[in-house]
Amino acid sequence: MGRTIAVCNQKGGVGKTTSAVNLASQLALDGVRVLLVDLDPQANATGGLGIDKRKVEKTIYQALLDQIPLQAVALKTQIPNLDLIPSQVSLSGAEVEMIGLPDREGRLKKTLQSARSEYDLILIDGPPSLGLLTVNALVASDGVLIPLQCEYYALEGLSQLLETIRMVQEGLNPGLIIQGILLTMADFRTKLTSDVIEEARKFFGSKVYDVVIPRSVRLSEAPSRGLPIALYDPGSIGAQAYRQLAKRIKEAIHVGDARLGERDTSVDSGERTPGSTGDPESPDPVHSSESLPTKESS
Ligand code: ATP
Ligand code: MG
Repeated sequence: MGRTIAVCNQKGGVGKTTSAVNLASQLALDGVRVLLVDLDPQANATGGLGIDKRKVEKTIYQALLDQIPLQAVALKTQIPNLDLIPSQVSLSGAEVEMIGLPDREGRLKKTLQSARSEYDLILIDGPPSLGLLTVNALVASDGVLIPLQCEYYALEGLSQLLETIRMVQEGLNPGLIIQGILLTMADFRTKLTSDVIEEARKFFGSKVYDVVIPRSVRLSEAPSRGLPIALYDPGSIGAQAYRQLAKRIKEAIHVGDARLGERDTSVDSGERTPGSTGDPESPDPVHSSESLPTKESS
């Protein structure tokens, strides 16, 4: 049974799509069978893989709303082992349209059910909001990967995301874990980057990946060519970083243990973030929002 990981952060432009596309592509190149689900009406993951969103006929919208079988929506990509469920701007209407439907939070989970045996990993690229689409992503997933941009205010607004994760854990998906925190767009020459990394590690402990994604022009150019970085410039620092991250994820999903996010994210003493495994014995599924650093301290 494959694992499902949602890439979520309601903040815009933090590297969700870049991470989802490059992680999915690298893992597929490494032989992992991956399904990338573009769950953002902006359809950036679709475009980033070189697929013209204007020409796509069936999208995640039809799978969610009209219950068209996933196999009829999935597209092959230029990378062997990587399939895509594309998106289109029409998905922006889905949140409103789903409100009146039965099991509105569980529709994506149901949609993806058949794919779980066909793929080793389903990766969901979430939209920059905390609405029904993101809730659907969290309900459908085993783990959530949270990209944090290395910039001032990086941790601002995270409390709402953690609160949403907690609500999902308490009700609709008790097994959901924080798979890992991924620091993105790091400029290692600046104090700001080291401050954000330090702050994130202080707060999330071993949940923060030791692999940090550097700021790299090549990473920002690649989507305009419709290519993942692994094909656009495999020798670049961005490609190297996503290769390393893919290694971490691959180790994790191959163990087949829902809690293994713990092991492969350790960077320091292996200190545990309270409740970070979604373990029922754990008192607090995610940190209380009060303990999050304020924007002044981040
Ligand atoms: P949205 O919330 O709009 O979906 P996002 O969180 O998916 O955004 P991306 O689209 O991945 O964020 O990245 C935002 C912008 O930053 C894009 O132009 C992307 O090319 C660029 N970018 C992402 N990661 C890097 C990086 N490591 N180095 C340089 N540019 C990057
Ligand atoms: Mg995006």
